[in-house]
Amino acid sequence: MAKDFYNTLGVSKSASQDEIKAAFRKLAHQYHPDKPTGNEAKFKEINEAYQAVGDPEKRKKYDQFGSAAFDGSPGGGQGFGGGQGFGGFDFSGFQGGGGFEDLGEMFGSMFGGGGGRHAAPRGSDIQVDADLTFKDSIFGVDKELHLSKFDACEKCEGKGAEPGTKMKDCDDCGGKGVKIVNQRTILGTFQTKAACGTCRGEGKVPSTNCKACHGDGIVRAKKTLTVHIPSGVENGNTLRVRGGGEAVRGGQSGDLFVRLHVKNDTRFEREGSTIYSSLNIGFTQAALGATVETEITDGAWKLEIEPGTQSGTEIRVRGKGVPAGNGRGDHVFVIQVVTPTKLSREQRKTLEDLNL
Ligand SMILES: [Zn+2]
Ligand SMILES: [Zn+2]
Repeated sequence: MAKDFYNTLGVSKSASQDEIKAAFRKLAHQYHPDKPTGNEAKFKEINEAYQAVGDPEKRKKYDQFGSAAFDGSPGGGQGFGGGQGFGGFDFSGFQGGGGFEDLGEMFGSMFGGGGGRHAAPRGSDIQVDADLTFKDSIFGVDKELHLSKFDACEKCEGKGAEPGTKMKDCDDCGGKGVKIVNQRTILGTFQTKAACGTCRGEGKVPSTNCKACHGDGIVRAKKTLTVHIPSGVENGNTLRVRGGGEAVRGGQSGDLFVRLHVKNDTRFEREGSTIYSSLNIGFTQAALGATVETEITDGAWKLEIEPGTQSGTEIRVRGKGVPAGNGRGDHVFVIQVVTPTKLSREQRKTLEDLNL
């Protein structure tokens, strides 16, 4: 069925590229699955539409041929996640600016992967989970990840040949890298070309296989990878590390997706770029004002309480919240005035005399 991508993005057919981009950003923010207003189906629709008309070249195609030009499996279906349940369309460095550019790129790889090309193999993507403390999610952290994955064989540099030995023409395809395959159908016999399986389309094979990888060019290895988690990430965000996935011989490694789990911190709560914490103060402090020792995510903090502060008052500390753009959001203390429950005889007498 034909889809109206302009309609999906809420722009007119004559909208400028900038207008389309702005509309996409706004909607993507609104419908991002991690947001309270999120809607995954809608989010995907928006992305599909943006992929088509957000790029001037593809937009021309769309204007000419309609959405049919964008249907079907992109580039042999090996573009993204191998269909193994990577459900989140997330940003890397979402708060750090530039996140959307990467998002565009991410979706870009799903589309228009060049149909019919002699596809170089691509390694599988890997998804791992990483736990973060609340503070790490605010300020960013270098995280060590332990992976067991296929990597290029170090001994033969991924070539599959024992070092010092030569490559030779593949016997199976005579060095051409392709084989003619006869396909019999009811309409007759067709000849199609297929990449030679023996040499993986390379035309050459090692005269002596590498002893470390048995000629595969890849070995399964335990790897420790240090990934920089940018500041301001949120629970459920996924980072993409290009080329961090499984290696494959004669092709590009897959990508590594790191799904972030931010642990709760009983002291702090986050809403967008604002951090909230509740602060209990005494009766007298509230009435007379005080300087209270408390903490923000950066560490210890001295908070000024004005005389006559009521319970529920919010005191905003500017620039001590979540890093966003070039600055930081705010930290908001929600004041709770604690009414004393146990009083000594003198205290009781004094309060009665005050009769407040
Ligand atoms: Zn061959
Ligand atoms: Zn090797």
